[in-house]
Amino acid sequence: AENKKNKERLKALLSADEIPETIPSQQDRKPAPRPEPPKETQRKRSTAPVAEPDKVSWDDFLNAIDRDERIGFQYAGDEISTLDGKLAKGNSSLDARLQLGDTIFGKIQLDGAENLSDEEKALVDTIAKQVSQHIENLRLVEQANQYRHEAETASRQLTQKGWEEYLNTSNAPARGYFYDQKRVIKTNDLETLVNMVNGEITTRPIAVRDEPIGKVTLADTQESSDQTQAMLATVIDRLGAHIENLRLLDETERGRQQLDKRAAELETVAKVSTAAAAIRDPESLLRSVVDLTNFSFKLYHTSVHLLHEDENGKQYLELSAASGKRGHQMLQDGHRISYNAKKSIVATTARSMTVQICNDTTQSNDFLSHPLLPDARSEMAIPMIVADKLLGVFDVQSDAPDRFTEEDKRTYTTLAAQTAVALQNALLYQEQLETVERLRELDQLKSSFLANMSHELRTPLNSISGFTQVMLEGLDGELTPEMEDDLGLIDKNANHLLNLINEVLDMAKIEAGRLSVSVEPTNLYQIIEDVVKSTAGLARENDLTMELDNQLDPEQIIIIDGMRIQQVMINLIGNAMKFTQEGGIKVHAEQDDNTIRVTVKDTGIGIPPEQLESIFEAFSQVDTSTTRKVGGTGLGLPISRRFVEMHNGRLWAESMGITGEGSKFIMELPLSLPE
Ligand code: ADP
Repeated sequence: AENKKNKERLKALLSADEIPETIPSQQDRKPAPRPEPPKETQRKRSTAPVAEPDKVSWDDFLNAIDRDERIGFQYAGDEISTLDGKLAKGNSSLDARLQLGDTIFGKIQLDGAENLSDEEKALVDTIAKQVSQHIENLRLVEQANQYRHEAETASRQLTQKGWEEYLNTSNAPARGYFYDQKRVIKTNDLETLVNMVNGEITTRPIAVRDEPIGKVTLADTQESSDQTQAMLATVIDRLGAHIENLRLLDETERGRQQLDKRAAELETVAKVSTAAAAIRDPESLLRSVVDLTNFSFKLYHTSVHLLHEDENGKQYLELSAASGKRGHQMLQDGHRISYNAKKSIVATTARSMTVQICNDTTQSNDFLSHPLLPDARSEMAIPMIVADKLLGVFDVQSDAPDRFTEEDKRTYTTLAAQTAVALQNALLYQEQLETVERLRELDQLKSSFLANMSHELRTPLNSISGFTQVMLEGLDGELTPEMEDDLGLIDKNANHLLNLINEVLDMAKIEAGRLSVSVEPTNLYQIIEDVVKSTAGLARENDLTMELDNQLDPEQIIIIDGMRIQQVMINLIGNAMKFTQEGGIKVHAEQDDNTIRVTVKDTGIGIPPEQLESIFEAFSQVDTSTTRKVGGTGLGLPISRRFVEMHNGRLWAESMGITGEGSKFIMELPLSLPE
């Protein structure tokens, strides 16, 4: 019996009818404007049940409808009323939490229920759970309504904005149409026309998604039966939907056309810039760009003015390229504009470094007309900037007014920027070419100076050598042993100096392109024998062994410059001795059908493998310290290689760079020289 009673109570309590009615339904509630909610909303606040199951979404929800106070209901006896203010304290005998998951969002408080049985308490708990679920469901419904409402508002705003923009575009239809039973008149001032009509006037809004986009005015209506009204309503309804569709269609089509146009223009820009990038000469680059641009964009005139400075530091813009015959004429006239010119779009662009558009030259104060360009009606000038520096101004003109739009601005800016970069590159390239040319001239000057100087140095040195020899031979009289020693030293050093000068002279000749070999029938076998013999003495003095394995044919005569090849051999053997402390030098010569190969191998300090090639460059030495033991200019090997190469041969070094293992220099000469 007790159970049954409980169930009935429960049923009564859970009869949901009471609650939903108190939820403010979306249909009758306007969106709550902020910051001050309308009175209507405020009133509804106090009657709406609010709890907070999922904390975040509840907070969102409450914020959205501007409610942040807690709201409750009380049931006393047989009446449910809203609970104003706080719950009465102290006499609560039972609390049941309103809770979903872990979030507690309210509570049911029973007063004066001290004597509830456990079962009744359990019942209260169950009720609390179900109420919690129910409130949450209601909240979700409410929130969904709110979202829907927001979506509707957005869509209405979109419609309104769309129409505003559409009517502002240049090819929009007339603002109004007037039908006088004979014809339809397009008009932008419908009001005046309507006002001229006598009689009764009925006005109905044309709405799209509840947003008024226009109105239909019926003037002088004689019939206004319900039927007529209903028909009018239907017609206006359809009319709204229909013109909205037409607008959307029109806009889509226009968007597509704009995209097509932009794509085509960008393609042209790409074409022009590709062409520009391939041209190295600044003048022809600019000429190509202006001609291509003028042609591709069907313009009246296209030109480029470059910024220059005169000897007084005054800046001016000089016409550097211009399209067509007129442009050619202007170029010949040496057209230029002062940087400070007030009445010139080109100068204004240069000063402001921003794009300037003049869409009606007849109305502009800025426009500087040119007698050769009488038909220019609109003009756009774009600054050509590279790395914040103004190179010049790219200028386009059309014979139609209003030719250049914001869209064009972007297209031409891209074009001008790419032209500017290409121009900068071309200018740099030209500068580089000039520098290289100047360097080459300087180099040649240096080489011929060296060649001349060496020649001048050699003459007195030969004289020193010659007279020393004369004295050493006793031709000038008897010498004391000391005098003989000193003269010997003079002779040795003079020879050394002569060698150095000869090397410098040879190198200078090579660099000046003035070195040649004079070939003649030569016995290479003999040359090798002689060189080794003449250097063997020096090797012995330095405690080095000197070995020769000469496998060439002693009788063979080949066509080479014997003097030069001898010089190469002396240089290689001289180096081997210079860089070897212990051991010795081995010279080996052999030949096959086509090639003679001579190697000079030593047991010296070797050459680091990474330097095996660089030692053949002029003035390059492995040890560049000032403390190095051996002298030298670093010219011997490059000269030697050059000589060998002039015989169509090769000279190279092999070494592991290990002291004691030494290095090996190989000279290969072809047996037969080409003609
Ligand atoms: P120089 O001997 O006058 O310095 P070279 O052009 O003849 O000029 O040689 C260039 C450099 O190559 C030398 O300074 C030396 O560092 C290196 N080199 C040449 N021959 C040898 C060798 N046989 N062993 C070790 N290093 C060598």
